[in-house]
Amino acid sequence: MENIAFFGLGNMGAPMSANLVRAGYRVTAFDPSDAALRRAVDKGCVRAESALQAVQGASAVISMLPGGDAVKSLYLGQDGLLRALAGNTLVIDCSTIAAEDARQLITAAGELGLRAIDAPVSGGTAAAAAGTLSFMCGGDKEAVDAARPYLQAMGAKLFHAGPAGAGQVAKICNNMLLAIHMIGTAEALQLGVDNGLDPVVLSEIMKASSGGNWSLEKYNPYPGVMEKVPAANGYAGGFSVALMLKDLGLAMDTAAASASSTPLGALAKNLYQLHGSCEENRRLDFSSIQNLFRRPAGG
Ligand code: NAD
Repeated sequence: MENIAFFGLGNMGAPMSANLVRAGYRVTAFDPSDAALRRAVDKGCVRAESALQAVQGASAVISMLPGGDAVKSLYLGQDGLLRALAGNTLVIDCSTIAAEDARQLITAAGELGLRAIDAPVSGGTAAAAAGTLSFMCGGDKEAVDAARPYLQAMGAKLFHAGPAGAGQVAKICNNMLLAIHMIGTAEALQLGVDNGLDPVVLSEIMKASSGGNWSLEKYNPYPGVMEKVPAANGYAGGFSVALMLKDLGLAMDTAAASASSTPLGALAKNLYQLHGSCEENRRLDFSSIQNLFRRPAGG
């Protein structure tokens, strides 16, 4: 049985690692959170007590971490994991991080005779559980092809966006657009509700009309419209406001570096900042931006 080391067993990493187990891999998992590790063991992963222990005998290392600092501190530097990996090990980082950080990781891996790609994902926690994620890969074609069997166990689509870091650029373009249409959807739904419409009826109308979009159709932010979305569950779980703010920050940094004009992305970041200025909101799913538009009861 082939060994894979998996790092980061949070909202996304937990179901992704479980799908690798289901596909027949021996997955040795590590996360500093004991609760996350215990949940992974319940789903068939093997518990590692340290990052170094996790990679013993692994032919591939997959990470799904909160951001660039976590990725760099795991892999890089004198004590970083890259130095502990056997030659030709494949490193697949699925976290959403700055393209520049991804390039740094991939270059450092190459210098040590390892193969690495950036492979951030789209689809959210439901797609992670269903094994239908989309992977946007950056790196050499040979390394992307080598990653294919592992990624296919966790996802339905794989795109090779270009060289190292290109997957991350694709990802932040996508998430900037996601933030914009989520906010637009919440704003339109509230306008309808404030004018006496049922959000379920309004959603059906807009889904069949030119306002249709992913936020409206698959991830409706208005409570009571859809089941099995964070809005049906007090906005718990899913993709946090804090992570969306991270991605919008990455998009704005990228836009500044390329002198690209992104006024709607900047406004979306501003609105998420306002929403996330309350610490409690930062942990909620990003569709909770609906609350920014909702009137207080009796208002
Ligand atoms: P999360 O906060 O739920 O999980 C992150 C996990 O990483 C935590 O369990 C944490 O303890 C662990 N971790 C931190 N440092 C670690 C280390 N050095 N070694 C091992 N584990 C470590 O986050 P998430 O929602 O699962 O998101 C993970 C990544 O996926 C982020 O980069 C995010 O932007 C991206 N993403 C998330 C979604 C989503 O819907 N949640 C969708 C697409 C992409």
